[in-house]
Amino acid sequence: MTWWHAGACVALVALVASTAVAPSATAGAAQSVAAARAVDILTPEQHFGFKMGTEGKLAAYPDVLTYMKLIAERSDRVDYETIGSTTMGNEYATVIISSPANLRRLDRLVEINQKLSDPRNTTPEEARKLAEEGVPFYHLEATIHSSEVGNGQAINDIVHRLATEDSDFTKNVLNNSVIVLVPSQNPDGQHLIIDHFNRTAGTEYARTYPDLYHKYTGHDDNRDWTMFTQVEAQYRLALEKKYRPAIVHIMHQKGNTGSRIFVPPYGGITSENVPANMSSSVSAIGQHAARELAAAGKTGVGSLDYHIFWTLEQPVGYFPFTGSGVYLTEIASVTDYAYPQVSQDGRPLGPQQARMNLIEPYRSNTWTLADIVDYAKIATYAGMEYTADNGGKLLYDNLYAVPYEYMTQGVPSGTFAFVVDAKQRDPYATFEMLQRLEWTQVEIDRATSEFVAGGKRYGAGSYVIKMHQPRGNWAHQVLGVDTYPEVRDCADCPALLPYAEATTSLPLQLGVDVAEIRSPFQANLERVASVKVPPVTMPTAPGDKGAYLVRPESYGTVQIVSALQNANIPTFRSAKSFTGEGVSYPAGTYVVPATPQARNVLATAAAKVGLQVTAVSRAPRTPGVQLKPQTKVGLLRGVGNMPGGWDMWQFDQYGINYDVVSAQDFQRKSLNELYDTIVISHGVSREDIVEGLDPKEYGEEYSWAYGVGDKGWRKLQQFVRNGGTLLAIGDSVETSQELLNLPMKPALPDDEDQFTTGGSLLHQEFDPNNPVAWGMPESWPVWLYDTQAWELTGDSGQVVSNYPAEGDVLASGYLRGAEHIRGAVNIASFTVGKGQVVTYGSEITFRTLTRSQFNLLYNAIYHGPAAAVDADAVQHLRPQFGPDGAPAQR
Ligand SMILES: [Zn+2]
Repeated sequence: MTWWHAGACVALVALVASTAVAPSATAGAAQSVAAARAVDILTPEQHFGFKMGTEGKLAAYPDVLTYMKLIAERSDRVDYETIGSTTMGNEYATVIISSPANLRRLDRLVEINQKLSDPRNTTPEEARKLAEEGVPFYHLEATIHSSEVGNGQAINDIVHRLATEDSDFTKNVLNNSVIVLVPSQNPDGQHLIIDHFNRTAGTEYARTYPDLYHKYTGHDDNRDWTMFTQVEAQYRLALEKKYRPAIVHIMHQKGNTGSRIFVPPYGGITSENVPANMSSSVSAIGQHAARELAAAGKTGVGSLDYHIFWTLEQPVGYFPFTGSGVYLTEIASVTDYAYPQVSQDGRPLGPQQARMNLIEPYRSNTWTLADIVDYAKIATYAGMEYTADNGGKLLYDNLYAVPYEYMTQGVPSGTFAFVVDAKQRDPYATFEMLQRLEWTQVEIDRATSEFVAGGKRYGAGSYVIKMHQPRGNWAHQVLGVDTYPEVRDCADCPALLPYAEATTSLPLQLGVDVAEIRSPFQANLERVASVKVPPVTMPTAPGDKGAYLVRPESYGTVQIVSALQNANIPTFRSAKSFTGEGVSYPAGTYVVPATPQARNVLATAAAKVGLQVTAVSRAPRTPGVQLKPQTKVGLLRGVGNMPGGWDMWQFDQYGINYDVVSAQDFQRKSLNELYDTIVISHGVSREDIVEGLDPKEYGEEYSWAYGVGDKGWRKLQQFVRNGGTLLAIGDSVETSQELLNLPMKPALPDDEDQFTTGGSLLHQEFDPNNPVAWGMPESWPVWLYDTQAWELTGDSGQVVSNYPAEGDVLASGYLRGAEHIRGAVNIASFTVGKGQVVTYGSEITFRTLTRSQFNLLYNAIYHGPAAAVDADAVQHLRPQFGPDGAPAQR
């Protein structure tokens, strides 16, 4: 990513210089500077042609950036920086606002923040001095959820005020803090939503945007704070690491039935990993905002809600662990982004009983975009004022004391360290986990010799992550096993479920063996300077009769297989375990002819994922399959469906040969002309496919998502019966059952009081001899949120995996009603006509976090279209397909 500074416009600099008279600060000179600003810097109304918050009017995102750039050019209080390009090629920018003196010493202020956040090299005495010299940074994220458009309008007024006003308030904020404004954390969504809104003005079409407001994530753009998969999340992480804000203000909107605005304190359960300073500093800010709102006559101010501090990784993520106080505001939304919300029955909006968490209920029956803009501005000014007023304390208590406490005290649970055995089933998973720790500044050590920890012997090269380190609590949060508590507000109340998920365990999600060690141990350690993919070397080329082998355990193999597929290299898989030159290989091992071309492709792909390719001088004599070259995948993702977006991201990352299945595809005679395998993402119902989007509401550009009717539904049935492979994930299993009358029935009760997980990892037993589970261990947890587990009702289905009938079911998180899921089927495969169906009851691709389960999908994607081959054909690597994928001529 590039960090460049917006070049100042020469003509404008000259203009300002000529009006800003003298350096001697006489009252007259100060007034003329202020006057020049008022003239040079247009108000939002002058710039956009309407007041922010005007009914039915939204400033487009590029215009907002243009306005910010203009202000930066004309004001010595504002700088504009382009951080980089977004997923869809738009501009991700920041606006830095402070006094001219602070902007001139910005490098020093950043350096102070860096030193404060580094208790390894800064003593408490030095930190106190630095906290006096520095000023706190206030990170203001105006939107991340792109349909929550009001805050993104309010920032135009906010920046204009800070750039032009000479009041005690602005002087205080500018002199005593630095504002780092991110106009949008998801610029693509601002384009998609507001452009659609403006394009449909005066038409019969719906004003609301129907699809994901990001190429891949949509609303889940705020659920990427452990893996940082998207470029925007990576920019955000880079900003955090660069500026070290003491306060992070994230501006959101919510539904329209509750309070008009939420401000902290938060409610509900909190994790012991959360720094206390962080929580209390934002509670204070929230209540300062509540007071300011009340003083301005604004009612309906609520608090003690949003219990987001259990699974921190999702809505707020890494940032509180660095000491940043996360100040969340959630303002009630309006109708179609920009039109008033008026209560149907004429009664006032929101709860009407005054309580301590809603001191003055909102008494009007109407709520407008202008209200959102007003509330957003007041809450923001309050946050800025509090931060400026409490700079030294925030700098010391948040930036310094939080990591200092972890470093000196360790973590509340008393855990000493986590140990990652050098020997892992999946070296690529281990790499991806360690890389995320590195990105989030966790210190990783590597043992230079054998050692014993927790009663177990570990080899040299094993990793040790100690808890006594500045990011100790974060490491504990993402490496540990979670036990979500059973908490009720009253004896008969239901247990409080987590806001997002009940666990964040990276090792279990990715498939890494990690041990939590409670008591101290001795080991010879060296600090890992940089996490790298394990180095691999290609074996000596075997003779003509030999073959290259790739073991099937790692999800990194997906990228090797897609490279082989895209290069059209014959790829076989052994259906049985075998021994090759003294080494045993499991069922599912890939067998590739020892050609120079195959060698090149394997060398490049294997190096990327750090997986060792081996060679045997004679290909194994074992029955198996040959994958169909260039297997073509169709993704039925569902319009506006987040799991479908994540599946697309995964396919794009891994180089899968796929297209999103469109309504136009159903106009073909048969879907088999287009696809070998169709994947139905979690969350796609029969109605989504048959009814789809209404052409009366959405124009031609959304025609791919129009309904395909009963005729299309029958074509999908025919696709399977004709030999296609259909894979259904999560609650799309019900869709596939409806489609093909599969012999299965739900095992779990619908009633949440009887069964729920709140998003947890549950133990799972696999059949590694079933082609869908090739390479899987016999047991490893799967992710289960609110989808079904199943019972097979006939003999025609094969069980690929099930929940354990005995012993623990919960691996990490929360589980109510374990008895309902014991022994239930999760993954099953069926033969239907000439085709194959695999049903995955759990979300095996959940936000692309559950990577330990990915091979369950990719195995099936390629296995259905593959050709069965006998032992002789594998041994002679005899192709069953021509290069075009058609059966080979014999
Ligand atoms: Zn939101």
